[in-house]
Amino acid sequence: MGVLNTVLVPCLTDNYCVLLHEPDSGETAVIDASSAPNIKAALNERGWRLNHIIITHHHTDHTAGVADLKASYGAAVTGPEAEADRIPGLTRGVTASTKISLAGHPINVIETPGHTLGHVTYHFPDDAMAFTGDTLFSLGCGRVFEGDPQMMWNSLSKIAALPGDTSIFCGHEYTLNNARFAMSIEPENEALQARVAEVEALRASGKPTLPTTIDVEKATNPFLRPQSHAIRARLGLEGALDWQIFERLRHLKNKA
Ligand code: ZN
Ligand code: FE
Repeated sequence: MGVLNTVLVPCLTDNYCVLLHEPDSGETAVIDASSAPNIKAALNERGWRLNHIIITHHHTDHTAGVADLKASYGAAVTGPEAEADRIPGLTRGVTASTKISLAGHPINVIETPGHTLGHVTYHFPDDAMAFTGDTLFSLGCGRVFEGDPQMMWNSLSKIAALPGDTSIFCGHEYTLNNARFAMSIEPENEALQARVAEVEALRASGKPTLPTTIDVEKATNPFLRPQSHAIRARLGLEGALDWQIFERLRHLKNKA
Protein backbone atom coordinates (compact mmCIF):
# COMPACT_ATOMS: atom_id res chain seq x y z
CA MET A 1 0.00 0.00 0.00
CA GLY A 2 1.43 3.34 -1.11
CA VAL A 3 1.53 6.60 0.75
CA LEU A 4 -1.38 9.04 0.65
CA ASN A 5 -0.17 12.55 -0.14
CA THR A 6 -2.19 15.42 1.32
CA VAL A 7 -2.49 18.99 0.02
CA LEU A 8 -4.36 21.72 1.89
CA VAL A 9 -6.32 23.89 -0.53
CA PRO A 10 -7.46 27.22 0.92
CA CYS A 11 -10.94 28.15 -0.36
CA LEU A 12 -13.34 31.06 0.15
CA THR A 13 -12.39 33.20 3.18
CA ASP A 14 -11.09 30.60 5.63
CA ASN A 15 -12.17 27.14 4.43
CA TYR A 16 -9.75 24.29 3.76
CA CYS A 17 -10.37 21.46 1.34
CA VAL A 18 -7.78 18.65 1.28
CA LEU A 19 -6.58 16.73 -1.76
CA LEU A 20 -5.58 13.11 -1.15
CA HIS A 21 -3.46 11.40 -3.80
CA GLU A 22 -2.00 7.90 -4.02
CA PRO A 23 0.83 8.04 -6.57
CA ASP A 24 0.89 4.36 -7.64
CA SER A 25 -2.78 4.13 -8.63
CA GLY A 26 -3.21 7.85 -9.32
CA GLU A 27 -6.40 7.77 -7.24
CA THR A 28 -7.30 11.24 -6.03
CA ALA A 29 -9.96 12.51 -3.66
CA VAL A 30 -10.93 15.84 -2.21
CA ILE A 31 -12.35 16.19 1.28
CA ASP A 32 -15.10 18.82 1.06
CA ALA A 33 -15.67 20.94 -2.01
CA SER A 34 -15.93 24.61 -1.07
CA SER A 35 -14.93 26.09 -4.40
CA ALA A 36 -14.41 24.22 -7.70
CA PRO A 37 -11.95 26.74 -9.27
CA ASN A 38 -9.52 26.52 -6.33
CA ILE A 39 -9.65 22.72 -6.29
CA LYS A 40 -9.25 22.46 -10.07
CA ALA A 41 -6.23 24.77 -9.98
CA ALA A 42 -4.60 22.66 -7.24
CA LEU A 43 -5.28 19.47 -9.26
CA ASN A 44 -3.98 20.96 -12.53
CA GLU A 45 -0.80 22.21 -10.88
CA ARG A 46 0.03 18.59 -10.00
CA GLY A 47 -1.46 16.85 -13.04
CA TRP A 48 -3.94 14.95 -10.86
CA ARG A 49 -7.41 13.82 -11.93
CA LEU A 50 -10.21 13.77 -9.37
CA ASN A 51 -11.98 10.44 -8.70
CA HIS A 52 -13.76 11.07 -5.41
CA ILE A 53 -15.46 13.97 -3.66
CA ILE A 54 -15.91 13.21 0.05
CA ILE A 55 -18.21 15.51 2.05
CA THR A 56 -18.36 16.01 5.84
CA HIS A 57 -21.70 17.87 6.01
CA HIS A 58 -24.24 19.69 3.87
CA HIS A 59 -23.33 23.36 4.48
CA THR A 60 -22.78 25.37 1.31
CA ASP A 61 -19.22 26.36 2.22
CA HIS A 62 -18.37 22.62 2.05
CA THR A 63 -20.48 21.62 -0.97
CA ALA A 64 -20.70 24.58 -3.39
CA GLY A 65 -18.12 23.03 -5.74
CA VAL A 66 -19.64 19.53 -5.89
CA ALA A 67 -21.76 19.94 -9.04
CA ASP A 68 -18.95 21.51 -11.10
CA LEU A 69 -16.31 18.99 -9.94
CA LYS A 70 -18.63 16.03 -10.50
CA ALA A 71 -19.48 17.23 -14.02
CA SER A 72 -15.85 18.03 -14.89
CA TYR A 73 -14.26 14.77 -13.71
CA GLY A 74 -17.14 12.30 -13.38
CA ALA A 75 -16.07 11.95 -9.75
CA ALA A 76 -18.16 9.93 -7.29
CA VAL A 77 -19.66 11.92 -4.41
CA THR A 78 -19.56 10.40 -0.92
CA GLY A 79 -21.27 12.00 2.07
CA PRO A 80 -23.48 11.33 5.07
CA GLU A 81 -26.56 9.26 4.20
CA ALA A 82 -28.49 11.30 6.79
CA GLU A 83 -27.99 14.42 4.64
CA ALA A 84 -28.55 12.76 1.25
CA ASP A 85 -31.38 15.14 0.37
CA ARG A 86 -29.25 18.19 1.19
CA ILE A 87 -26.04 17.26 -0.67
CA PRO A 88 -26.60 17.74 -4.40
CA GLY A 89 -25.18 14.96 -6.58
CA LEU A 90 -24.50 12.49 -3.76
CA THR A 91 -23.72 9.07 -5.24
CA ARG A 92 -22.87 7.15 -2.05
CA GLY A 93 -24.43 7.85 1.33
CA VAL A 94 -22.43 6.58 4.31
CA THR A 95 -23.12 5.78 7.97
CA ALA A 96 -20.84 4.50 10.73
CA SER A 97 -21.31 0.94 9.44
CA THR A 98 -20.33 1.68 5.82
CA LYS A 99 -16.95 0.23 4.81
CA ILE A 100 -15.11 2.60 2.48
CA SER A 101 -11.52 3.07 1.35
CA LEU A 102 -9.33 5.12 -0.95
CA ALA A 103 -6.65 3.34 -3.02
CA GLY A 104 -6.76 0.46 -0.53
CA HIS A 105 -6.50 2.75 2.51
CA PRO A 106 -9.42 2.02 4.86
CA ILE A 107 -11.61 4.93 5.98
CA ASN A 108 -13.72 4.74 9.13
CA VAL A 109 -16.86 6.86 9.08
CA ILE A 110 -17.50 8.36 12.53
CA GLU A 111 -20.92 9.91 13.05
CA THR A 112 -20.31 13.29 14.72
CA PRO A 113 -23.68 15.10 14.83
CA GLY A 114 -24.23 18.45 16.50
CA HIS A 115 -23.03 21.14 14.07
CA THR A 116 -25.43 19.46 11.64
CA LEU A 117 -27.43 16.32 12.43
CA GLY A 118 -25.70 14.19 9.80
CA HIS A 119 -22.14 15.51 10.12
CA VAL A 120 -19.49 12.77 9.77
CA THR A 121 -15.74 12.63 10.45
CA TYR A 122 -13.51 10.49 8.21
CA HIS A 123 -10.73 8.60 9.99
CA PHE A 124 -7.93 6.94 8.01
CA PRO A 125 -6.55 4.53 10.66
CA ASP A 126 -3.59 3.24 8.58
CA ASP A 127 -2.52 6.82 7.74
CA ALA A 128 -3.09 8.29 11.23
CA MET A 129 -5.23 11.15 9.95
CA ALA A 130 -8.80 12.35 10.33
CA PHE A 131 -10.99 14.99 8.68
CA THR A 132 -13.26 16.62 11.22
CA GLY A 133 -15.06 19.21 9.07
CA ASP A 134 -16.85 21.72 11.31
CA THR A 135 -16.99 19.47 14.41
CA LEU A 136 -13.48 19.90 15.86
CA PHE A 137 -11.31 22.92 15.06
CA SER A 138 -7.84 23.60 16.40
CA LEU A 139 -8.38 25.27 19.82
CA GLY A 140 -12.13 25.30 19.17
CA CYS A 141 -15.14 23.50 17.77
CA GLY A 142 -18.07 24.14 15.47
CA ARG A 143 -21.24 25.88 16.52
CA VAL A 144 -24.10 23.62 17.54
CA PHE A 145 -26.61 24.52 14.82
CA GLU A 146 -28.83 21.44 14.43
CA GLY A 147 -28.11 19.25 17.44
CA ASP A 148 -27.80 19.95 21.15
CA PRO A 149 -24.79 20.41 23.45
CA GLN A 150 -24.89 16.87 24.82
CA MET A 151 -24.90 15.45 21.28
CA MET A 152 -22.00 17.70 20.24
CA TRP A 153 -19.99 16.76 23.33
CA ASN A 154 -20.56 13.08 22.56
CA SER A 155 -19.28 13.66 19.01
CA LEU A 156 -16.18 15.51 20.21
CA SER A 157 -15.52 12.68 22.67
CA LYS A 158 -15.46 10.18 19.79
CA ILE A 159 -12.83 12.27 18.00
CA ALA A 160 -10.81 12.74 21.21
CA ALA A 161 -10.70 8.95 21.58
CA LEU A 162 -8.66 8.56 18.35
CA PRO A 163 -4.94 7.75 18.76
CA GLY A 164 -2.98 10.76 20.06
CA ASP A 165 -0.70 10.98 17.04
CA THR A 166 -3.61 11.25 14.58
CA SER A 167 -3.24 14.30 12.30
CA ILE A 168 -6.43 16.36 12.40
CA PHE A 169 -7.55 18.32 9.34
CA CYS A 170 -10.34 20.80 10.14
CA GLY A 171 -12.72 22.61 7.81
CA HIS A 172 -11.62 26.14 8.69
CA GLU A 173 -8.58 28.24 9.59
CA TYR A 174 -10.11 29.61 12.79
CA THR A 175 -7.19 28.84 15.09
CA LEU A 176 -5.96 32.36 15.85
CA ASN A 177 -9.45 33.56 16.74
CA ASN A 178 -10.04 30.42 18.81
CA ALA A 179 -6.72 31.03 20.60
CA ARG A 180 -8.00 34.29 22.07
CA PHE A 181 -11.02 32.57 23.59
CA ALA A 182 -8.95 29.60 24.81
CA MET A 183 -6.53 31.96 26.58
CA SER A 184 -9.45 33.68 28.34
CA ILE A 185 -10.59 30.28 29.66
CA GLU A 186 -7.32 28.62 30.70
CA PRO A 187 -4.50 31.21 30.64
CA GLU A 188 -2.35 29.17 33.06
CA ASN A 189 -2.14 26.22 30.63
CA GLU A 190 1.50 26.13 29.46
CA ALA A 191 0.81 23.81 26.52
CA LEU A 192 -1.82 26.31 25.37
CA GLN A 193 0.59 29.24 25.75
CA ALA A 194 3.14 27.40 23.59
CA ARG A 195 0.53 26.50 20.94
CA VAL A 196 -0.70 30.12 20.79
CA ALA A 197 2.86 31.35 20.20
CA GLU A 198 3.27 28.75 17.44
CA VAL A 199 -0.08 29.70 15.86
CA GLU A 200 0.76 33.42 15.90
CA ALA A 201 4.11 32.74 14.20
CA LEU A 202 2.52 30.48 11.55
CA ARG A 203 -0.18 33.02 10.70
CA ALA A 204 2.29 35.92 10.68
CA SER A 205 4.18 34.08 7.92
CA GLY A 206 0.97 33.17 6.06
CA LYS A 207 1.16 29.46 6.87
CA PRO A 208 -1.74 27.16 7.88
CA THR A 209 -2.04 26.07 11.51
CA LEU A 210 -3.32 22.68 10.33
CA PRO A 211 -3.12 19.78 10.54
CA THR A 212 -3.06 19.64 14.31
CA THR A 213 -3.01 16.38 16.33
CA ILE A 214 -5.26 14.75 18.90
CA ASP A 215 -2.53 15.03 21.54
CA VAL A 216 -2.11 18.78 20.92
CA GLU A 217 -5.86 19.42 21.03
CA LYS A 218 -6.37 17.37 24.20
CA ALA A 219 -3.63 19.43 25.87
CA THR A 220 -4.78 22.85 24.62
CA ASN A 221 -8.37 22.97 23.30
CA PRO A 222 -10.74 24.07 26.10
CA PHE A 223 -13.64 22.24 24.43
CA LEU A 224 -11.79 18.92 24.93
CA ARG A 225 -10.75 19.77 28.50
CA PRO A 226 -13.92 19.78 30.65
CA GLN A 227 -12.02 17.76 33.27
CA SER A 228 -9.54 20.63 33.81
CA HIS A 229 -9.79 21.90 37.40
CA ALA A 230 -8.66 25.35 36.29
CA ILE A 231 -11.48 25.56 33.72
CA ARG A 232 -14.08 24.24 36.16
CA ALA A 233 -12.99 26.72 38.83
CA ARG A 234 -13.03 29.63 36.38
CA LEU A 235 -16.59 28.75 35.32
CA GLY A 236 -17.71 28.10 38.91
CA LEU A 237 -18.92 24.65 37.82
CA GLU A 238 -16.72 22.29 39.86
CA GLY A 239 -19.37 19.57 40.22
CA ALA A 240 -20.88 19.71 36.72
CA LEU A 241 -20.91 16.91 34.15
CA ASP A 242 -18.43 17.15 31.28
CA TRP A 243 -21.13 17.98 28.72
CA GLN A 244 -22.39 20.78 30.95
CA ILE A 245 -18.91 22.31 31.02
CA PHE A 246 -18.89 21.99 27.24
CA GLU A 247 -22.31 23.66 27.02
CA ARG A 248 -21.14 26.64 29.09
CA LEU A 249 -17.94 27.03 27.05
CA ARG A 250 -19.88 26.93 23.77
CA HIS A 251 -22.31 29.52 25.15
CA LEU A 252 -19.47 31.84 26.19
CA LYS A 253 -17.67 31.43 22.85
CA ASN A 254 -20.86 32.24 20.94
CA LYS A 255 -21.02 35.57 22.77
CA ALA A 256 -17.28 36.32 22.50
ZN1 ZN B 1 -20.55 23.98 8.54
FE1 FE C 1 -18.00 25.45 7.43
